[in-house]
Amino acid sequence: MRAQPTASHYIDGEYVEDEAGATLQVVYPATGEVIATLHAATPALIERAVAAAKRAQGEWGALRPIERARILRRAHDLVRERNDEIARIESLDTGRAVSETMYVDAVSVAEALEFYSGVIASYNGQSISLGSSFAYTQREPLGVCVGIGAWNYPFQGAGWKSAPALAAGNAMVFKPSENSPLSALLLAEIYRDAGLPNGLFNVLQGFGNVGHALVAHPDTAKVSLTGSVPTGKKVLGLAGSMMKHGTMELGGKSPIIVFDDASIDNAASGVLMANFYSTGQICTNGTRVFLQRAIHDQMVEKITERTRNIKIGDPFDPSVTMGPLVSQAQQSKVRSYIDIGKEEGAVLHYGGGIPNMQGMEGGFWIEPTIFTQVTDNMRLAREEIFGPVMSILAFDTEEEVIARANDTEFGLAGGVFTQDIARGHRVAKRLEAGMVWINNYNLAPVEVPFGGVKSSGVGRECATAALDHYTQIKSVYVEADQVVSVF
Ligand code: NDP
Repeated sequence: MRAQPTASHYIDGEYVEDEAGATLQVVYPATGEVIATLHAATPALIERAVAAAKRAQGEWGALRPIERARILRRAHDLVRERNDEIARIESLDTGRAVSETMYVDAVSVAEALEFYSGVIASYNGQSISLGSSFAYTQREPLGVCVGIGAWNYPFQGAGWKSAPALAAGNAMVFKPSENSPLSALLLAEIYRDAGLPNGLFNVLQGFGNVGHALVAHPDTAKVSLTGSVPTGKKVLGLAGSMMKHGTMELGGKSPIIVFDDASIDNAASGVLMANFYSTGQICTNGTRVFLQRAIHDQMVEKITERTRNIKIGDPFDPSVTMGPLVSQAQQSKVRSYIDIGKEEGAVLHYGGGIPNMQGMEGGFWIEPTIFTQVTDNMRLAREEIFGPVMSILAFDTEEEVIARANDTEFGLAGGVFTQDIARGHRVAKRLEAGMVWINNYNLAPVEVPFGGVKSSGVGRECATAALDHYTQIKSVYVEADQVVSVF
């Protein structure tokens, strides 16, 4: 299987190669075979991309928003047309099953383009009355924005960052994760075909040092990063030291709380989606599953029964619901957490091993895994694993579970399952999280702001909130009277 792109990078409206850059092997996670060989961006290419973006941004930012919207709308159409091709590349690059990538990745980017092309013309500043005088504000683009993506949803990452950035009149230089670098190039082609002027969306491949160089570049104004908390701290620290804007979408260890009045079937569906979708590689996953004691055993039984039905296998088989992990490093990390869980005294209730995958032995497989009798202080319950490892904890009261759910450095997401509408809202209000679902989990429509609190990040993606983070306010005071002077 090959998925070699035309070239590694996309700069100023064309594919660019520079073999002087370090080699980057792209691996199909289901088999371990190399499907493409790319090169990391050299300092010269970084300069070229930022210069192209800077040159293009001025004219783009000065257009009427409705003119920018027209191009994004065409990009939306092209993303939908190329859905299957995008899904194929996404499955090859990440190993995620086509039963997901056909329906989620391109669709969520298409919706982002549709949303921002729809709202940008009416995204305006304020008029502020000051008696006889007044002031108005304008939302101005920031300039050249840097996007840095994680490996789990690479196409979505590129789209969620670039759509609002471009709509607001910025240019973007995007660096995908080294683990899943391919699909951002497809997005660059789509923008080109939609009529986006050259230089406004550039893709540079590379490792962390390329991301670092882009953030450190004097001509970039903002960085939007999706990644882990340690990387986020480094990147925001660097951006802050240069007084640049930063949006950080980082990791989590989110709680799902199931009260004893919840619909057992619904709650089990939510818990499974929150732990095993995308082989557990979702930042918002509800990996601490708190079950109220009266329904604990019944829920464990239901969750286990449903987990048995998961079909692990060839990501290109449409009936498969779980592919491999993204890389060998991630597989080793997940396996080490399974060992840690056992050593800490949690009960390995289901899975925990490597499935026997005939013909795909070189892939990075792992079984969906359930630990029961997990306690709050175990590393299993405190650290982000980013794999299909569910920790089940028992609780008695609402007050107790809220305190335990909040006892974490993270604050990305949370879920509550209950039929009691007042309790649902009460718990949602008290959870320290950027987003909470009541009676569902992990839905992230573009209309809703997305992001975390505490160590899980700053800023928001999606909705008009993202536009706030890709613009800055200029206030203009207009005097309609005489200047009052004390001199
Ligand atoms: P990493 O933090 O390892 O990397 C994120 C990105 O940052 C990669 O492109 C990486 O490049 C780059 N990078 C690494 N070091 C630097 C640096 N010093 N300066 C600039 N860029 C750098 O995260 P993963 O890719 O492993 O993704 C998994 C993490 O992402 C998890 O913690 C997960 O929770 C989080 N995540 C958060 C989401 C959210 O929206 N909140 C959504 C999805 C994932 P390279 O890969 O080449 O090293």
